[in-house]
Order: sequence, then structure tokens, then C-alpha cells
Amino acid sequence: MIDKPARVRFAPSPTGHMHLGSARTALYNYLLARQTGGQFILRIEDTDQKRYVPGAEKELIDGLHWLGLDYDEGPDVGGSFGPYRQTERRETYREHVQKLVDLGKAYPCFCTPERLEKVRQEQQQQKIRTHYDGFCRNLDPQEAAARIASGEKHVIRFKMPSEGTTTALDYIRGPITVENKLLDDSVLMKSDGWPTYHLAAMVDDHLMEITHVFRSSEWLGTFPLHANIVRAFGWEEPIWIHLSIFLKPSGKGKMSKREKAEAIKDGYSIFVKDLQDLGFIPEGLNNWAALMGWGAGETEDILTLPEMIEKFDLHHLNPSPAAINFTKLDYFNGAHIRMLALDDLAARIKPYFLRENYKVDDATLLKIVPLIRERLVTLDDCLPFAAWFFKETLTINPADLVAKNLDSAQSAQVARKIYAVLENLPNVSHAVAEAPMRALTENLGLSLGQVLGLLRVAVTGQMVSPPLFESMEIVGKSLVLERLRNAIDILEKMSV
Ligand code: GLU
Repeated sequence: MIDKPARVRFAPSPTGHMHLGSARTALYNYLLARQTGGQFILRIEDTDQKRYVPGAEKELIDGLHWLGLDYDEGPDVGGSFGPYRQTERRETYREHVQKLVDLGKAYPCFCTPERLEKVRQEQQQQKIRTHYDGFCRNLDPQEAAARIASGEKHVIRFKMPSEGTTTALDYIRGPITVENKLLDDSVLMKSDGWPTYHLAAMVDDHLMEITHVFRSSEWLGTFPLHANIVRAFGWEEPIWIHLSIFLKPSGKGKMSKREKAEAIKDGYSIFVKDLQDLGFIPEGLNNWAALMGWGAGETEDILTLPEMIEKFDLHHLNPSPAAINFTKLDYFNGAHIRMLALDDLAARIKPYFLRENYKVDDATLLKIVPLIRERLVTLDDCLPFAAWFFKETLTINPADLVAKNLDSAQSAQVARKIYAVLENLPNVSHAVAEAPMRALTENLGLSLGQVLGLLRVAVTGQMVSPPLFESMEIVGKSLVLERLRNAIDILEKMSV
């Protein structure tokens, strides 16, 4: 447990849809901030103009709100360490890169793309590691200054120590040591004046007083570079935590584009917005994502956000890759759906009916919810179970009305008997109608499946429905009789 308030940031690049991995990174940041009474910051890393996707920032912000991961500082809420969008911090990066140049820890490089390509090809031919060959590393500073003054195109590179080793500490993986001669003089500032991630993120993490950096293990390769940059400035290093990557459900490799498209057809996705549309709820998604890489106890623990805040522990983060298990997502989602208050669940399923143009009345909806909530894995499961409640007329498949082992004429006969019994009851509730239906079944020498199956199709239009008598009670006696009358007509027409 950490007792000092943590200042943590979620620093996505607006380059596409919000991925499950981003949701988990944001969640861990949020949990640590809330647990320690610290701050959770949203920083938009948008300096890569080529990868920028309009609308992606909004999707990220909407995603965080939907997940319930409210941040204390960010581009839309402000804060005293802003601006929180990197494109608004250009001057800060320029000043800082200059500081490194002045300290002799970075240098301008005038190599043209053509020259760099030639060097790369030569290295490939010689079968040696492709890297920047240091051509401009030892240029005379005065000459470099004159070339810059004359407007010559250049980048700024970091001057990596060329001897010895670098050891950087990852909180969950331990020390990572590399030989410096294997590290490149990476670009910190591009020729268009925009910083690379290496510079911008290190500067911002320092200026924003970030204590813990949660990021993807995809950054492990450049981790020693980042540690060197921070040290070159003479800054204190944050606690770095490189989170596990996600593997496809089989555990073999990452999900390909094709596999992502396949997943959607099965009702799953690795993108937050899709999962929202597919009827997953944030509580379920957070719980599922949290436990991919965090051993809170049992991996099937049902945890609410407040419980996760209490239990979150950096020592239990697991660096090994986590296979995406959608069956578990179903499990967590269903469990969290059942924990919702009835009116909350009603409000959350209502849009699914409206989306299909059903006219929904709230009082009826509230009565339906207890009948279906045990069966919902995703919110949109409300449609197959309960859309019939809001249909003015049912489309019945006549064959479904024919009871098992009977023909249509016999089924019509049974339906008429059911009608006669129900017609004389004060109402069609479970308490009132169940016993007479059982008695009728016995009198007719039929099975409950035959009689109630027919009644179910007549009243709901489908073979599978929520509990029948409870459903009939909601529909009301007169509509039940009307539908039964209609079923009798269908069956009689079938038998002529
Ligand atoms: N902008 C980086 C990304 O989206 C963030 C990495 C970090 O959190 O430092 O991968």
C-alpha cells in the first residue's frame, strides 16, 4: 500500500477507438488516485499529426465518463498543471529540448531522410543492427548553430551514453538493464518542431508531478531511453509500471483485424464503445478489465468500483500477458446487472427497446425487470425476452402453436379449454391461474409442457419467455384472452 497521495495520468493518443487496454490503464490510474487521496489526470498526447483521428479525443472522454472514471484534471476540466493537450504545450517542449542541447545531452542532426535510408540499407547488408550512425553527434556546436540560423532542416537527437549500461526499474518487473551501445540516439524533436513521445511524455510527467506511470509494456523497449532522458534533466524518476499486454482468447498472439471483426459478430469487441453498444455495463467491464493483470484474490471476484479502490495493490499486478476471455466478461456483466436496483436496470434497458422503435411505458417496464433480470447477460438480451410486451400485435409462427404430440385440431381444442378456464377467473396471476391450469392439464391427460407451451406461444408469440403467469399478470386478463382467441383462430384455420 502507498500512503502518499499519488498523482497519476492516463495519457492516450487520439489515434482511434478506445481499446480495452486503455480502459484498464485508466482504471488502474483511477484506483490508485482514489485509494491514496491523490489526483487522476487526463492528458491527451496528440502531437503525432499523422496518426491523429478527429473525434478520437471525444470518444476517449465519453468512454471515461461512461466507465465512471472521473478525472480531476484534464483538457475539459482544467487544473493547475495545464494545458493538458500536448499540442498546446509546444513551447514547453522547445524550451526543454534546448535545455538538453545546452547541457550537451542532445544535439541537432541535419541528416536527410535519404542519407538515413542509405545508412539503414548498408547496415542491413552488413547484417548489423540498424541504428543512427551518430554522423551529427559530434558536430562543432558553433557550426551547428550557424546551420540552424541559416534555416537548415534538422531534428534534435538525444545523446545516449555510448558506454556502460543503463538500469531502469519497473515496479512489477524489477530492474531492467541494457548495454548503452545497443541504444539509439533517438529523435526528441522532429524537423517540423513537434516533440516525439520520448521528450513530450517525460517533460509532462515531470512538470505535472506524476508519481506513478502506468503504461503498456509496448514501451519496455524504449524504457531505458526514457530513464536516461529523465536523468539527463536531473529529475526524480516516477515509479514506472509496464502493464501486461492482452492476447487473443486462445492466448496465442494478439488479436488480428480479422479476429476483431469476427468477435463483433459473436457479440464481443475489444473497443469500449462497441462493448457499450453490445449491452455490456461499465460495472461489468471494469471488473473484468481490472482482473486481467491484477490478482485481487480470486480471478472471478465480483468487485464494485469502491471495493476495487479499497483492494487495489500494485504488488499484485501481474506482468505476464493476459488472454482475453469473453466468457468471463459475460459472467461479470451478468453478475453486475443483477446487482443493479430495479429502476436503474429499467432505465438502462429502455434505450434498447426505443432503438427498435417500441413504445415503452415505464410502469410496465418496471414490472418486467424482475422477471428478466436473472436471465440478462447483456442489456440487449432484454429484446428477445421482453420486446413482445411492447408489441401491439404478435407475429406468430402457426407451427409453434401446435402442442407437442398433438395435431392442430387437437391443439385448437386445448386452446378453447384453456380459454374457458381463464375466462372464468378473476385474473390471470400466478396465484389465481396456476392451479386451474394444472387441473385442466390433468383432466386432459396432457403434460404441463403441452398446455403451458401452447399458452406461452399464444400470449407471447415465442417459445421462450419470462415466467408465464407473471408475464400474463403484466399483460392483463383481457389481452391474454384476446391473444388466445387469435391463437384459436390460427389453429382452426390450420385444421380445415
Ligand atoms: N500516448 C501514449 C499511448 O497512447 C501513452 C503512453 C503513456 O502512458 O506514457 O500509447
